Amino acid sequence: MKTITNGIHHITAISGNAKSNLDFYTKFLGLKLVKKTVNFDDPHTYHLYYANRTADPGTLLTFFPWENIVKGIRGTGQATEIQYSVPKDSFDFWLNRIKEHNILYNKPSQRFDEEYLTILDNDGLKFELVISNDKDEREPFITDDVNESVAIRGFRNITLTLQNIDKTSKLLTDLLGYKLKEEKVNRFRFVNENAVDAKYIDLVFAPGEQRGQVAGGSVHHVAFRVKNDDEQMMLHEKLSDAGYHITPQIDRKYFKSLYFREPGGVLFEIATDPPGMMVDESIDELGKKLQLPEIYESRRLEIEKRLPEL
Ligand code: ZN
Repeated sequence: MKTITNGIHHITAISGNAKSNLDFYTKFLGLKLVKKTVNFDDPHTYHLYYANRTADPGTLLTFFPWENIVKGIRGTGQATEIQYSVPKDSFDFWLNRIKEHNILYNKPSQRFDEEYLTILDNDGLKFELVISNDKDEREPFITDDVNESVAIRGFRNITLTLQNIDKTSKLLTDLLGYKLKEEKVNRFRFVNENAVDAKYIDLVFAPGEQRGQVAGGSVHHVAFRVKNDDEQMMLHEKLSDAGYHITPQIDRKYFKSLYFREPGGVLFEIATDPPGMMVDESIDELGKKLQLPEIYESRRLEIEKRLPEL
């Protein structure tokens, strides 16, 4: 049987100061903080999740904020840009807002059949707000400043910049359910037709570019979604058979995960949709209270005391 994934599940990145990260994503971009938890491997560091109103896979951007982290270097072997889907005619709003908040940006440009607007977050992580012809029916989060007609819907795409794209292309098409849709100069766009949203990946072939270094302002890993444990285990077997060193299943409370490094150097994860972000909080409670996994619950006071101010 052919293995598939259903597009991007979440993207995890590294930031500096937690409060500045929270302000950028919730106040400036208008995303919803849907989970405030800790790094399960380092409970004195936050793990913050930003998403749409209903905290759906395909909208989840998560951060490990490390207060004194050095800045990463953008380059090959990395996920270099995150593309967010925004509604038609929203760029005037975003451009005004970007200028008001002194955010670094490039003026809107065109690629394939879509317009995009590049911005950098406080740590230098690169985003593109994208207006495309695809329908996007995901329910956005609405704030006092960012209304429904302009709000971010969720991921559309992720771009990997690689020194060699042959093996990564093969991984995408043979094992993860993607196919090549179009190419222009050194950009190859793959689409996952099993996915409704967050279904594109661009590979940028950049053999001469310097190798990137993952640190502050870099993507740490890209997670692909699968429906359930069975699909995940099938993928585990196929990836092992293809020679990938893949971890056993790890319980991340909100999803179950497998990790492996793709041939171009980017860390990939396979994450299950269930149980989802509402396993410990209702839709109105999402992100309000510090959530700890069971193993750290007895240390709550000590952990809360050492986490930085938000
Ligand atoms: Zn992850």
